[in-house]
Amino acid sequence: MSSSGDLIWTDDPPFAENASRSLGDAQLRRNLRNATATIRNRRAGLVAETPDWQELRHAGAAIKDDVLHHLDRYLTEFERNATARGAQVHWANDADEANHIVAGLIEQTGHTEVIKVKSMATQEIGLVDALARQQIRAHETDLAELIIQLSHDKPSHIVVPALHRNRAEIREIFAKHMPDAPTDLTDDPHALAEAARLHLRRLFLKTKTAISGANFAIAETGGLLVAESEGNGRMCLTLPDTLISVVGIEKLIPTFSDLEVFLQLLPRSATGERMNPYNSVWTGVTEGDGPKDVHIVLLDNGRTRALADTIGRQALRCIRCAACLNVCPVYERTGGHAYGSTYPGPIGAILTPLMVGVEHAPQLPFASSLCGACYEVCPVEIDIPTVLVKLRHDAVKAKRHKAEDATFAVAAKAMRGRRRWTAALKSAKLMRFVRHSAPPPLSRWTRTRDLPAPPAEPFRKWWSER
Ligand code: SF4
Repeated sequence: MSSSGDLIWTDDPPFAENASRSLGDAQLRRNLRNATATIRNRRAGLVAETPDWQELRHAGAAIKDDVLHHLDRYLTEFERNATARGAQVHWANDADEANHIVAGLIEQTGHTEVIKVKSMATQEIGLVDALARQQIRAHETDLAELIIQLSHDKPSHIVVPALHRNRAEIREIFAKHMPDAPTDLTDDPHALAEAARLHLRRLFLKTKTAISGANFAIAETGGLLVAESEGNGRMCLTLPDTLISVVGIEKLIPTFSDLEVFLQLLPRSATGERMNPYNSVWTGVTEGDGPKDVHIVLLDNGRTRALADTIGRQALRCIRCAACLNVCPVYERTGGHAYGSTYPGPIGAILTPLMVGVEHAPQLPFASSLCGACYEVCPVEIDIPTVLVKLRHDAVKAKRHKAEDATFAVAAKAMRGRRRWTAALKSAKLMRFVRHSAPPPLSRWTRTRDLPAPPAEPFRKWWSER
């Protein structure tokens, strides 16, 4: 397990092994292709109709960079304003500390069941499992998260966690694992949604404690915002008596009016909608309206480690829209599980190593073709390819490979002398032969790489003859 809670589910098997298994699953690849293409096309259409899209991207990146440069100031401003409005703010260094705080707060309520809004931060710290160990049952209320929880599966996408499932599979899961599912349930999307709605409605009405994350934390007011599509989040945020929100420290924005930028960027990039059907904002406690007890757990869990990386820190601008996943040729073919991390796809390939240390996730920066599509769609202009290259360098430095070192030392020596280089070019034909029949462990490198055919005549020879 990683050093930062459940951020990485497992270090073993590594990405390459997981990916080759996913590639053999034709059904999974069909599900991924259909789902990513649908969201991708919807997003592209909406971006095309937004004339100031590039300006919005610049603004989003600038606001987030300002927060990252003055994180200490904005965090204390947020705490001051949230506390003044009746919320209690807690600070958690890592996953264990956050889980301990949340479990303690639930124990104080005397409840053993809680409802939950979809949240990446709580997934990152493995909160549901940690609560289960304290005999507290957390019910996911987001439809896709419910599907994942009922089938004891793992999410494979940031915005659409059950993207790898089709409706026939979902019907099977409901019929098998949801005790109150109708016996004549079909795989019609309306029937599936209705079955989930009835199941969740009972939970909303009887459960008095809820857990959430937040898309944005507003320093100026001490308020939090959750954006969602189903309305189940709003049920969790308004009906219970106690609300506990786990929020990554990078979720801050300075002012309420900054939402103008992000509430245009996020829905278009995430689900291909002009606006989220539900944007719920709450600020502390309001007498007679919503939860009476509001707690906010501000979570580090590797974020300050990422902040210390001058090139990598831009990953903390991420607003978890998943647009980079939907355009990534690697993600589309392997799916999210292959990454073995809470954050899959291009953003996971940089964020996870930055947060847990590249030595704990050395394969992830290599899970990319460096095509740059992720950078082009990112609504906060995270230059993912540049960060990937930097992390590859760090990964190689952290785990230097003797054979690779020796090969590059020989190549460097050859390139430094003209005669040696000419001789090396002459032997390139031999190299090409070796490339096809290299013995292990060299064959692991040559198997998947092509060595271009050497020219029939070296340039210097051609030049001197003319
Ligand atoms: S890196 Fe950019 S595109 Fe990817 S999830 Fe984060 S904000 Fe969205």
